[in-house]
Amino acid sequence: MDSRHLGIGMTSQRTRMRMVERLREQGIRDETVLAAMGEVPRHIFVDEALASRAYDDFALPIGFGQTISAPLTVARMLELARGGRSLGRVLEIGTGCGYQVAVLSRIAREVYSIERIAALLGKARRSLRELRATNVKLKHADGQLGLPDIAPFDAIVMAAAAAEVPEALTAQLDIGGRLVMPIGTKEQRLVMIERTDRAFVETRLENVNFVPLLPGTRV
Ligand code: SAH
Repeated sequence: MDSRHLGIGMTSQRTRMRMVERLREQGIRDETVLAAMGEVPRHIFVDEALASRAYDDFALPIGFGQTISAPLTVARMLELARGGRSLGRVLEIGTGCGYQVAVLSRIAREVYSIERIAALLGKARRSLRELRATNVKLKHADGQLGLPDIAPFDAIVMAAAAAEVPEALTAQLDIGGRLVMPIGTKEQRLVMIERTDRAFVETRLENVNFVPLLPGTRV
């Protein structure tokens, strides 16, 4: 085990528990999500130089102009995606450093995640291997099309903002499934789409600030 796992100082279990307490104060109620976030060592997903800031309540740079989402953002997205259900198959779009996937791997049976930047995906793969997250599959692709061959999903979470809801993704929701994603270009809003047996029900939530969804892939 390398020193990053020893949990010393600013990266200890106690720091993580303080983060969880803060999330509770900020209104997160889903104990399953809170427990998972209390377990996943967030600091291994950022550069060592930023490790002491890893549990603070903001997004941090992870290279290539991208960020690891703030703890509250991850908690909120996953609380909405779960909706109190136990999750089977789940899809994330925008793996980034892999932190949210690691949390998802503890609250869902099977997790798929797509990232368009190959170098980020490589890093995420290494971190997830360290954590022995074996129920996770990562893919280098443009996530807008989802994974039609693997669908349907109980939940789809998108970590990048699109101008509109991609129809390819709503089509991959199971009945009772939920898609949670930021929508908008200048101003973004968190949107939740729930598939019932006869319709898609859209709920517009709070304003948010995500990196934009971009087309295509890169190395
Ligand atoms: N889930 C991450 C957040 C990463 S930021 C976390 O746990 O912190 C959002 C990510 O979405 C970036 O890495 C960006 O490269 C990726 N992204 C943007 N457009 C995409 C697309 N079309 N397909 C797949 N990934 C995309």
